[in-house]
Amino acid sequence: MSHYEKAWQAVKTRIAEAAAKAGRDPASIALTAVSKTFPAAAVREVHALGQRAFGENYVQEGAAKRAELRDLAGLDWRLIGPLQSNKTAAAAAAFDTVETVDRLRIAERLAAARAAAGVPLDVLVQVNISAEATKSGVAPEAATELACGVAALPGLRLRGFMGIAAPDADRATQRRQFARLRACRDAARERGLALDVLSMGMSADFEDAIAEGSTEVRIGSAIFGARGSHA
Ligand SMILES: *Cc1c(COP(=O)(O)O)cnc(C)c1O
Repeated sequence: MSHYEKAWQAVKTRIAEAAAKAGRDPASIALTAVSKTFPAAAVREVHALGQRAFGENYVQEGAAKRAELRDLAGLDWRLIGPLQSNKTAAAAAAFDTVETVDRLRIAERLAAARAAAGVPLDVLVQVNISAEATKSGVAPEAATELACGVAALPGLRLRGFMGIAAPDADRATQRRQFARLRACRDAARERGLALDVLSMGMSADFEDAIAEGSTEVRIGSAIFGARGSHA
């Protein structure tokens, strides 16, 4: 078994165990393999194991890997890093899902880019659940309003919410932050939005995220290994 195969299988097992512990169907939790800083060859190896969804933080890096891996079937590229408005057209072309919509202006630009292409772009609204000044994402109190605005745009398909728990917080605090994202999803549903995605949980905290209702965990280092200091 290759290193990636062992690590990927171990993550799948931990997801299934966390799901069972929470009384949830493991099939209701999708795995996004976060390949940022790792070469296209690494994505190719993990794709061969059956993995299809890959997460990237930078538009240019994701676009380059997408181009290099055009021969692979079924790849699902997800942008999970902050998006600047001058990169929206490139992001709309290189990604299948943008998880980091945190203001209407970004959504409008993505919508315009995809309207021209004729194929809707899946998006998530990123919520700042850790309340750290440096973290991107809309404030939880403003999440429902932004979601309603995004959902009304042609060219986009709003699927749900994404959040990042404070990495240094204790587990109880992280769980409260994950619960905050679920509450955003529930509030938006009450406003009539049909949302099915709750993207939360990373290598260090995904079991707690699953306990709080995550439907998509974004796992990098537990699959690919430690990233360089530039990550
Ligand atoms: C890098 C990153 C991840 C993956 O982090 P790991 O700790 O390596 O699993 C997940 N989500 C976001 C938004 C990231 O930037």
